[in-house]
Amino acid sequence: EAITVAELANRMAEKAADLVKSLFKLGMMVTVNQTIDQDTAELLVEEFGHNIQRVSDNDVDIDSAADVDAEDTLQARPPVVTIMGHVDHGKTSLLDALRGTDVVRGEAGGITQHMGAYQIKTKGGDLVTFLDTPGHAAFTQMRMRGANVTDIVVLVVAADDGIMPQTIEAINHTKAAGVPMIVAINKCDKHEANPQKVRERLLEHEIVVEEMSGDVQDVEVSAKTGKGLDELIEKILLQAELLELKANPDREAEATVIEAKLDKGKGPLATVLVNRGTLKVGDILVVGTESGRVRAMLDDKGRQVKVAPPSMPVEVLGIGGVPMAGDKLTVVDSEQRAREVSSWRQEQATAKRTATAPASLDTMFSALADKAKVIEYPVVVKADVQGSTEAIVAALHALSNDEIKVRVLNSGVGAITETDVTLAAASGAPIIGFNVRPNAKAREQIEKTKTSMMYYDIIYELTAEVAKQMAGIWGPER
Ligand code: GDP
Repeated sequence: EAITVAELANRMAEKAADLVKSLFKLGMMVTVNQTIDQDTAELLVEEFGHNIQRVSDNDVDIDSAADVDAEDTLQARPPVVTIMGHVDHGKTSLLDALRGTDVVRGEAGGITQHMGAYQIKTKGGDLVTFLDTPGHAAFTQMRMRGANVTDIVVLVVAADDGIMPQTIEAINHTKAAGVPMIVAINKCDKHEANPQKVRERLLEHEIVVEEMSGDVQDVEVSAKTGKGLDELIEKILLQAELLELKANPDREAEATVIEAKLDKGKGPLATVLVNRGTLKVGDILVVGTESGRVRAMLDDKGRQVKVAPPSMPVEVLGIGGVPMAGDKLTVVDSEQRAREVSSWRQEQATAKRTATAPASLDTMFSALADKAKVIEYPVVVKADVQGSTEAIVAALHALSNDEIKVRVLNSGVGAITETDVTLAAASGAPIIGFNVRPNAKAREQIEKTKTSMMYYDIIYELTAEVAKQMAGIWGPER
């Protein structure tokens, strides 16, 4: 059975462009309207962190969302914007200033509750959602969990300070995510501000802004005086229009957890962003390994709301426990179904945690050999930049076959840490370091747990070695 890339993207509520990018990394040049086979589709579904429907009878048909929204059910939805940039360049100030432009908030008298995201209504009546957690850590973490909620990144660069290390990191993360960027050159009220220099220096990172005849929108702003904010919002709306962001509002809701906490009085609270459908008070839901029923919903102004359409952030009361940021929320049709699904997921999570640690690769394989038909080859991947991490993960997934599947327990950017080793050791997985090494604490832990380490600086050498290990144990003679 074949499916078009566009249709698969729609089913997974992911961007078709992201799928095309992943396919490209797997060595397949396809366009959104071309079809791909079942195996490739499954690979993508896993790659994006969704469950495959056929995994188990107990798992749900909810996560991979077999139901496609027909083209004529789709309606425009507001863009979801994340602000990134170097520390002290004004991310928080800009988020506050943008919140201040909300015409609704002006009327309501401006109570604000921090819940990880807020939505503004512009003078023109358009809605824009901002994720209120500045910085790329949150962005990357969400993406690692398969939650691509951001449509547009606003890169803040202080005009008096220019391009700094975290600016470059933010650029890399944004590029890796394939999300369009708008550059906000901030602190333009300052006398030492030099916006032109910022534009020039951006060229070195292959960001060519409009002013330099490129296609990345840029705007001079001041979070302090409010200069340029309207223009920034206009540019966000223009970018959103180009992206043709759409979702079906008339169906059971699917949402993503942005933030969650335990409130002494109210119990577990989760801020979720609705991806498609409309979330309603009374809805029965599963979120991560938790289940519940929407008892009440609050908007970012602390007002009770009964319904939340696509792209609207709301705080949900009535979940049985505290979910994790990046968890998908899905509305189901009965409490029994919700309990079934959540308890099955809980068992899976516990089983994963309590998996005993075989001492070496060999014992891992023999332990695995006794188990199910499809064997997993678990790995932990760390690399120096996000782009490499993604490329490696995609390449490793491509090595999977009917008998043995690569399972990436965790992938990330930076030195190999104690946590990586603990995670790897718990499953007897090797750690693959790409242009990175373990820190001192991690080295001790590696010795102690006898965790296998593999270091590379060339991706095909890495994949060749992993393929060899996999074939060595599950070779053609088997
Ligand atoms: P973040 O670390 O990126 O969130 O930066 P903040 O929003 O905390 O801002 C860092 C500092 O820069 C604070 O002292 C702000 O008052 C100041 N700041 C932010 N935006 C502007 C601006 O547009 N103009 C001026 N003059 N100062 C600003």
